[in-house]
Amino acid sequence: MPTPEISRRINDRIEELYERHLREGDDAVSYYESGRGYYGPELAAEERNRFAICLVSTDGEAYCVGDHETPFALQSISKVFAYGLALADHGRDHVLKHVGVEPSGEAFNSIVFDERNNRPYNPMLNAGALVASYLVRGADPVEKVERLLEILRGYAGNESLQVDYDTFEAEMSAADHNRATTYLMRSQGMVSGDVEEILAMYLKQCSVQVTCRDLAVMAATLANGCVNPITGERELPRRHVRDLLSVMHTCGMYDAAGQWVFDVGVPAKSGVSGGILAVIPGKMGIGVFSPGLDSHGNSVRGVRVCEEISERLGLHMFATEAEDAMIGAAPPG
Ligand code: GLN
Repeated sequence: MPTPEISRRINDRIEELYERHLREGDDAVSYYESGRGYYGPELAAEERNRFAICLVSTDGEAYCVGDHETPFALQSISKVFAYGLALADHGRDHVLKHVGVEPSGEAFNSIVFDERNNRPYNPMLNAGALVASYLVRGADPVEKVERLLEILRGYAGNESLQVDYDTFEAEMSAADHNRATTYLMRSQGMVSGDVEEILAMYLKQCSVQVTCRDLAVMAATLANGCVNPITGERELPRRHVRDLLSVMHTCGMYDAAGQWVFDVGVPAKSGVSGGILAVIPGKMGIGVFSPGLDSHGNSVRGVRVCEEISERLGLHMFATEAEDAMIGAAPPG
């Protein structure tokens, strides 16, 4: 547990980071709205400037600034948890037969497959995520969604997480690209059964509402070996934790995954609603939310904030020194 003095210093640093990035704006190239897709900066300034940063340590201390109680849709961040559930349900060998672990270098919604192995490249792309959701066990679609919701609630330590049905309906009404992807995969034997059912499962998981604080607790659970630091509950068998973090590390940030590893160097996942969940194994989870997106679909402020935190705390997995530790004292070495 940090002393009150250290907690105060961390709070001050995050406040400063937040104020500065809020003031600087984000020169976003687009915003995303469910059912409407991507559009330019005509979104009301108030919404454009929604911004929150939360850090949760692996011993459950939370530091939050900005709109951290404002909910938003998980979108692609849900892919991490559906993949985890598929691994827990079937084991890694079975899941690997259905979805690979190779970055594709393509946009998240591109319709490309690992043809040699007749499977999507990885579970962080839409195609692979659709397969992971399809693999989640359940007697019927209702049970499958319920199981996924339960696991999301467990990671967040928040029993009130729900699918937002307005978001879901809007996503469903504009899902032809994902629908086409799923039909194509069915024609090639990558999935079977009812395409609409697979699509609905995937889009429901995308439509689960979380706050930035929830996101940071989910990240802290991943950082803590998938034991939620607040509830003490295990959310994924230990043997799958590194599978999940490895895929996030190489594939989590769309087609900017390489740049992200280069600049930030920690496993992470972004979503088009503007959330980024970043995991510092053994230390803490970071949640950032700001809806302005760059050309890859990643939150502009989210990326910048994570870059800065990583730099200042020396969090990059290959870092050998910290420029300026956030809590004041530089780590040894
Ligand atoms: N739900 C949207 C889709 O599947 C966006 C997912 C994402 O965050 N990239 O296209």
